[in-house]
Amino acid sequence: MKMSVLLILPLITGCAKEIPIQTEFVLGTVCTVQLYHYGSAKIYNAVFSRVREIENRMSVVIPDTDIARINRNAGIEPVPVHQEVITLLERSRYYAELSGGAFDPTVGPLVKLWDITSEHPRLPSAEAIQEALALIDWRDVIINREAETVFLRRIGMALDLGAIAKGYAADEAIKIIKQAGIPRGIIDFGGNIFAYGEKASPKSPWRIGVQHPLGGRGSYIGILEVSNKSVVTSGVYERYAEIDGVRYHHILSTADGYPVHNGLLSVTIIADASVDADALSTAVFALGYEQGKALVESLGTADAVFIFADTAIRFSQGAEALFKETSASRFPEK
Ligand code: ADP
Ligand code: MG
Repeated sequence: MKMSVLLILPLITGCAKEIPIQTEFVLGTVCTVQLYHYGSAKIYNAVFSRVREIENRMSVVIPDTDIARINRNAGIEPVPVHQEVITLLERSRYYAELSGGAFDPTVGPLVKLWDITSEHPRLPSAEAIQEALALIDWRDVIINREAETVFLRRIGMALDLGAIAKGYAADEAIKIIKQAGIPRGIIDFGGNIFAYGEKASPKSPWRIGVQHPLGGRGSYIGILEVSNKSVVTSGVYERYAEIDGVRYHHILSTADGYPVHNGLLSVTIIADASVDADALSTAVFALGYEQGKALVESLGTADAVFIFADTAIRFSQGAEALFKETSASRFPEK
């Protein structure tokens, strides 16, 4: 009798097909969705196919996306695009205007010029940087919502939604999870985190680690305790190239054309929507501490944690209450 119970149990649990976590490479990065005992092949498939659909519209790497076609037709003609591309471009325009162009979705020519993810990155010449800078201006993106077309006014212009698309995808993923009646979960799209719902038992906020900018992956400078929030970090360590022994990271100044250099190592934004946290993390990082903090506090809907080159930590008004410093905070191992 006892024997048969033991034999049956694994069969029952085997049938349930509970998948606590699923990781896939999409949006040019490692994307993880963690739904604990609510996880099933069906829900993960629904989430990841939606994320791939977004990638197939927004990527500049994949050849025939809406964004790639807009770029190919820069200075030539308006391009019909899916309505969600219009939505995300309007959101991008909002943050471009709000940040005075520090965040700019037309940063494409500069991203291509630096090409820091290439195998042999080179330091661009000053002339090439000036040429690229002259092509960057979010006001030259002509969005026609009725006709559902987008036009870049000048030849050579190029959109790059790398600073906002992962956040948008995270929100869309959460929508699907919510519609399925799932009450909680964590998603992490290459550092774009959405902490959905709250921890089950005891009911408590999620604890989201803020990476130590000098400590490498998995070393935390502190923990943010949040429920139902997105947490997104832009940092110098996320993607960079080493050229002649100097590190050049991937957030570019639309003012001088070089990687932003303002004493910050990272900015973490906490907001209700990941699209906002993503755009703001880049915008606030590019603006620097003073202006970035002022921007976040003027919005009243987001908070920011700033980490400086000496690993000093500063906060926008509401952020300090959410942040718990870890004991190894200032002295990461290694
Ligand atoms: P990550 O991609 O590491 O999450 P960000 O959200 O800060 O980091 O996005 C950085 C990416 O955004 C760059 O790789 C590039 O594609 C693009 N980008 C770089 N500088 C800017 C800028 N000033 N404004 C808008 N997008 C930018
Ligand atoms: Mg961003």
